Amino acid sequence: MELDVRTLMVVFTVNVFAVSLALPAIMGWRVGPAARQAVLSTLLQAGGWFFLVLSTFWRQQWQDQVCSVLAMAGMSASLVLLWRSIGLWTGRPQLAWPMWALTVLMTLGYGIGFEHYPWRVGLANGVLGTQMLAIVFAVSRHSPATGWRWRALIGLCMGATAVVTFWRGILGAFFTEAYPFLTAPHPVNKVAALVSNLSLVLTTVAILMAYREEAERELQAQAMTDGLTGLLNRRAWTERAEALLADAQRYGYPLVAVMLDIDHFKRINDERGHARGDQALQLLSRLLREELRTGDLAGRYGGEEFCVLLTHTREGQALSLDQRLRHCLRLQSAQELEFPLEYSAGVAALGTRDTTLDSLLRRADEALYEAKRAGRGQVVLAPRVAASPAPETLPA
Ligand code: GH3
Ligand code: MG
Ligand code: MG
Repeated sequence: MELDVRTLMVVFTVNVFAVSLALPAIMGWRVGPAARQAVLSTLLQAGGWFFLVLSTFWRQQWQDQVCSVLAMAGMSASLVLLWRSIGLWTGRPQLAWPMWALTVLMTLGYGIGFEHYPWRVGLANGVLGTQMLAIVFAVSRHSPATGWRWRALIGLCMGATAVVTFWRGILGAFFTEAYPFLTAPHPVNKVAALVSNLSLVLTTVAILMAYREEAERELQAQAMTDGLTGLLNRRAWTERAEALLADAQRYGYPLVAVMLDIDHFKRINDERGHARGDQALQLLSRLLREELRTGDLAGRYGGEEFCVLLTHTREGQALSLDQRLRHCLRLQSAQELEFPLEYSAGVAALGTRDTTLDSLLRRADEALYEAKRAGRGQVVLAPRVAASPAPETLPA
């Protein structure tokens, strides 16, 4: 069977174009930056191959030089974009300028030294191969949040393509008589055509897998987050709180639950409108996020009720958090809402009798109820032992 190298290249170019149009048609245009860069990468790859095929019609003429330079720039830029999208998908983006610098320097060096065949073939294939290896490195890095299958697929494809690319570069640079022009009927070209086609198919599958994984992650995050405040919703908060509580019980570290409820919120809604009420909820949530340490857990428990779990914390620290939060809220609400926003809070420290999250929250809720009864705008500490007398009221 006789395989004509240029025909194989044309078929491949048509395939890449088809893929670069099919991908955005499937994903839509409103995708995240990682998917967008992956699509752009295939589009640039298609452009690169188009110019490469075109260049073969004008061997050793100026049109050959222009088309070849555009081809190299397109292919190299396509690899950088694929590499960047992998960084975004895996949550491990790397400094991009060295990769872009390689693209620019290679394109310049290729264009300037075009007359010198061994130089340009060695340089272009050396740099393209290196960029492919950078992609192999990017997908092989530890990334527990992403699946290994699509990363393995891309790694395999890029690894195989890198081998063929280096092979071509070495032949062109050091064994020029064996590989005197791009479409020479050398085995490297036939293997390259096969590897490229396979790699295109598998990389496309991998990109779609990565995209689906991203969409799933987003859906999961949406299902866990409260749309208005950006805090965890009740279900997600409870799930994580259960885990934190289990840890605190197992390792014996102190843990405190705080329940907060905005005072007279119904009146705020009635008198100032729901939009203002929503703004008040957003303000309190934002301040909560700012005041908490990493490791603490805040969630919107109900309408205007929030729950916080403070890890490695005792009652005293929870009370000082309450003081700070109250202070900030007083200042910020006057500025942003143009009325003072206040809340009541109940604090319960994890005790030996709190075998479940429910029992801890019930005590925090009882303390919150006491704070409301005592006149609002204050925090109440729940007694440590369920049998002890009425909770102690602390002024704000
Ligand atoms: P208290 O001081 O006793 O807590 O009185 P309150 O008015 O804050 O408490 P109540 O539970 O009677 O009212 C809570 C109100 O919160 C009623 C409900 O309409 C409002 N609410 C619940 N979710 C939202 C929301 O997402 N946005 C707005 N604007 N209001 C909400
Ligand atoms: Mg309220
Ligand atoms: Mg309430």
